Amino acid sequence: MIDDDGPHTKGLGKHLNGVQNGMVLNFQFNEWSPTCRSKREYCIRVIAVHEFGHALSFAHEQNRKDTPDNWCKEEIQGTDGDMYITPWDLKSVMNYCNPKWSGDGKLSAHDLDGLHYVYGPNKGGIVKDKVDKVGDIGRSGWKGIPSGIVAAVSHPNGKAYFFKGDKYYRFDCKRDEVDKVGTTGSSGWKGIPNQISAAVNHPNGKAYFFKGNKYYRFDFKKDKVDKVGDTGSSGWNGIPTGVNSAVNHPNSRAYFFKENKYYRFVF
Ligand SMILES: [Zn+2]
Repeated sequence: MIDDDGPHTKGLGKHLNGVQNGMVLNFQFNEWSPTCRSKREYCIRVIAVHEFGHALSFAHEQNRKDTPDNWCKEEIQGTDGDMYITPWDLKSVMNYCNPKWSGDGKLSAHDLDGLHYVYGPNKGGIVKDKVDKVGDIGRSGWKGIPSGIVAAVSHPNGKAYFFKGDKYYRFDCKRDEVDKVGTTGSSGWKGIPNQISAAVNHPNGKAYFFKGNKYYRFDFKKDKVDKVGDTGSSGWNGIPTGVNSAVNHPNSRAYFFKENKYYRFVF
C-alpha cells in the first residue's frame, strides 16, 4: 500500500503472505519525513530497499544480541530473525545504526552474502564482472609502467604505486603516466623489502605487502612499515604463504592469488 505514513512491513518473509497492506511505502512525504520532499527519488529508493529486505525475510540488524550496546543505541524494532548469517554489520541496509540511512539503499558486502546464502548466487548477469579490454602495458595505457609488475596499491595522495624487484613506479592517474621511479625501502616505502610478491589496501587505511611467509603493514601517515607479521598466523587468517598477487575488489573484499587458486579475504 502507498500511504503518507511511516513505511513498514507487518512481518518478515512468508509471514507477509496474504497479509492485507503488509507493506506500506510512502511516495508523498507531506505528513511523514517532509525533508524527503526535496529528494523524493532518493527516499523512495532507500525505503524500498529496506522494506523489500523485510519482505525477503531480513530483520533489523540492530535487533541482534551481538549489537555493540555501548554505542549502537537504536531500539530493537519489529520481529527478530531466527538466525545470523554474517557477522554483525554496521553497513547493512537493515541496520538503524548505519550512519547512512539504510546505507543509502546500497547493499553491503554482508547484505549480499546474506541474500546469496538464502536465495542462491547471482545468476542474473547484473554484475558485469568480465574482462572488457586487453592492452599492452606501457603501450596502450599505463604509460611508464614496465612489464612484470608484481603488486600495486593506491596511496592517499591519489596516486598508484606499482612494484617490481627493488623498484617502485608512481603512477599519476590524472596525467595517465608514471611521474616517478624510486627504490623500494630506500627512496620511499621505508621498511618494505625488495622482491615483494603482493600488496593490498586495507580498509583501516594502511597497506599490506606480502613476501614469503611475512606481511609488512605500511602506515601512510608515518610513511613507514609499523608492523611485520606472519601471514596466516598473526593476521590474514586463511591466506597461504607465498601468494603470487593480490587485488582489492569493489565488493570490499580482497582476492589473493597463488598458483591455480584464489582466496577471497573478508576484512
Ligand atoms: Zn525496518
